[in-house]
Amino acid sequence: MATHDAWALVCRLFAGGTPILRAALSPRESAALPALGQAVKPTALDQRFVLCPYCHQHRAQVWGDGRGGRTCHCPECGPVAVAADDAVALRLDEDWLRRKLRLALSIESRDGIDALGDGVWRLGDSRRSPVLLARDLIRLWREPALLERVRVAGGPIRVITPKPRETHGAPFGPGVEWLALEDRFAFYGGGISFIAPTGEPPAAQASDPRTPVKGPFSADFRWVTLPDWPDGPIRLTDGQTKVFKSLWSLKGEPATAERIMQRAGLDSDKLVDVFKVKARDKHKADAAGAKHAYDTLVSKRRREGLYWMPCSDEHAEQ
Ligand SMILES: [Zn+2]
Repeated sequence: MATHDAWALVCRLFAGGTPILRAALSPRESAALPALGQAVKPTALDQRFVLCPYCHQHRAQVWGDGRGGRTCHCPECGPVAVAADDAVALRLDEDWLRRKLRLALSIESRDGIDALGDGVWRLGDSRRSPVLLARDLIRLWREPALLERVRVAGGPIRVITPKPRETHGAPFGPGVEWLALEDRFAFYGGGISFIAPTGEPPAAQASDPRTPVKGPFSADFRWVTLPDWPDGPIRLTDGQTKVFKSLWSLKGEPATAERIMQRAGLDSDKLVDVFKVKARDKHKADAAGAKHAYDTLVSKRRREGLYWMPCSDEHAEQ
C-alpha cells in the first residue's frame, strides 16, 4: 500500500506546514517517498542543529569533531556522529497539493487560487460551491468570518482540512461540508483523486482527457501519468493501450503473457513487443515514456512467465 502511505505522508507534511527531517521518517514513509516524485522535495535545514540521529527525540547542536566530521550533542545520548543526510529534510510542494486538489474536485482553472492568509486558501468553485483548503480546522472555528468571506448568497461551502485528533461527523454547522484530507482524497497515479461518499455520484471528471482516473491511466487508457516522468502525461499507442487495459482488468492477478495478449486482442505473445522503442522513434518522448511506464507499472516473475500490474490491485481494494 505504498500509495496509502504516500498520501498519509502528504497529509502529515501539509498539516505540519514545516519540513520534516528525512531521518525522522518511518520506514513506511521512506518506502513511499519515491512514489511521490516531485511532490515532496528535499530541502536544507539549519545545519547548526539536527534531530539526534540516534534517538530521533532531541534537536541538538552540531559541532565539528576536529577531524572534518560533525558531532551533535544530544542531551540524552551524548555526542553522536552526524552523517551528511541527517540534516536533509523534506518539504511538501504545496502548490502541487493545491493544483491536484483542484483537479480532483473538477475546479475549473479560470479562477485562480486565493491565499486568504495564514494557512487558508480558496481553491475555487466545485459544483458551484466555493472550496476552502485550511491547514488547521481549529483556525476556521476561531475565525468563522473566513467562511463568510467566501460564501455566496447563503450557499454551501466545502472545507478541506487535515483531520484533527478529536473530530467526528460534521465539525461545522449546516451549509459547510467538511472533507477530511486524509479520508476523502487519495494519492493516485501521481495525482490526487477525490473519494465521493457512498450514495453520492462521483465528482464529474476534470475536462482534461489525460487526467489519471484509473490509477495512473486516463479513463480511456490512452494516457498514463507518472510522477517521475519529466514530460507530463505519456500518450500510448493502440497496442500499448490494449495491453494496459488487459492488465488492469486482471486486477493485479499474475497471468501469462499469452493470456494477457489474448485479452488485449493482440497477436504477439510478448508484452514488451508493443513497448519496444523503435530506432525511428528514439527521439520521441512518448515512445520512451511508454517503455518507462511498462517498466514501472508491470511486475514480472520471469521464471514462471507471469505478469501483473500492482496498481490495478489497489483499485480493486478501494
Ligand atoms: Zn539522542
